[in-house]
Amino acid sequence: MNSPIVAVVGGGQLARMMAPAATALGITLRVLVESEQASAAGAAHETVVGLPTDPDAVRRLLGAPRPDVVTWEHEHIPAEVFDQCAAARVPARPGAQALRFAQDKIEMRARMDELRLPNPAWRVVETDADVAAFLDAHGGQGVLKTARGGYDGKGVRVIREVADAHDWIASAAAGGPRLLIEAKVGFRRELAVQVARRPSGDCAVWPVVESIQRDGVCSEVTAPAPDLAPELAEQARAMAITIAESLDVTGVLAVELFEVEGALIINELAMRPHNSGHWSIDGAVTSQFEQHLRAVLDLPLGDTAAHSPWTVMANVLGGERQDLGDALVEVGDPGAKVHLYGKGVRRGRKVGHVTVTGADCDDTYRRAVEAAAIVRDGGAA
Ligand code: ADP
Repeated sequence: MNSPIVAVVGGGQLARMMAPAATALGITLRVLVESEQASAAGAAHETVVGLPTDPDAVRRLLGAPRPDVVTWEHEHIPAEVFDQCAAARVPARPGAQALRFAQDKIEMRARMDELRLPNPAWRVVETDADVAAFLDAHGGQGVLKTARGGYDGKGVRVIREVADAHDWIASAAAGGPRLLIEAKVGFRRELAVQVARRPSGDCAVWPVVESIQRDGVCSEVTAPAPDLAPELAEQARAMAITIAESLDVTGVLAVELFEVEGALIINELAMRPHNSGHWSIDGAVTSQFEQHLRAVLDLPLGDTAAHSPWTVMANVLGGERQDLGDALVEVGDPGAKVHLYGKGVRRGRKVGHVTVTGADCDDTYRRAVEAAAIVRDGGAA
């Protein structure tokens, strides 16, 4: 085959982190970035500046030399983009029929029910009365969610009374995003499992990881999930494969899970590389970014095994430090792998991550968290 060209819609850190893997494989990565300052703009081999809502920009992304495939680094892909891909005869992976289950939480919950996979109790809510009925039936609390457009906990709200939901109900009634409500799961912890699937059918699953969220944002990921019962790990991996196959996902799929006593409940799906898989860059034989490229190009998938007993990834959210370059001088742990996304620092924004591998789980965790704190603001608590 000729050296492939992969087109990516979206210029954030996920597209940026595909670039080193593409370079290693001799793949040209052409990215549709929102602006010249986008995270991926400094890393991709070719960039097209524009939004996915701009048909002209998408035309340029799909233009000569024609890419072998187009993929996404976020779910907010207008339907027209798929039409343009079809017209240009560029395969879109994952395709529209798969991606809608990652775009819309109502569609996702309904499909998981059909597949008899474990959902929390849930329903679509359109009125205050719908919310009241659900709260009555579920111990007076629930988790209200916008079906579309949420990320990092935006679009998710724990509610205890109808009044807590009223503004969102009103905005949904006025044409805003549809809403669903879920029972609040009293989980022990949050897990995630990732699988890659190629169009010809092969799947490869990574070890199940534990993810710690703070204020709705992923903070640390430990691979593998410490002390996870082997039956649950197997169940999670099997569930990921079932979902990938049933939804005809191509590329990387992340399944976020809640662990409750001896069981798993699905939280949500992402059909792209995901924060819960960043550990794999430094901790697995094949990173999620390399594997995503392999999967969407229908190339043989790489080995997903971890090459250390423990890998911990700690996110760096924007803090005091404005120029993260200084952090490269200050992080003294030679085993800490620092990844910076080339983004402007704003409080709470994901601007980088640090990964540490090691033989002892607690020590590896401590080192990763310490190094991430130094990157953020010199190590201040
Ligand atoms: P986002 O799309 O913003 O990532 P999620 O649906 O993953 O939103 O929710 C963000 C966080 O909110 C989850 O990681 C979890 O901590 C909490 N959460 C979401 N749904 C529930 C639920 N049904 N029960 C308990 N906690 C939940």
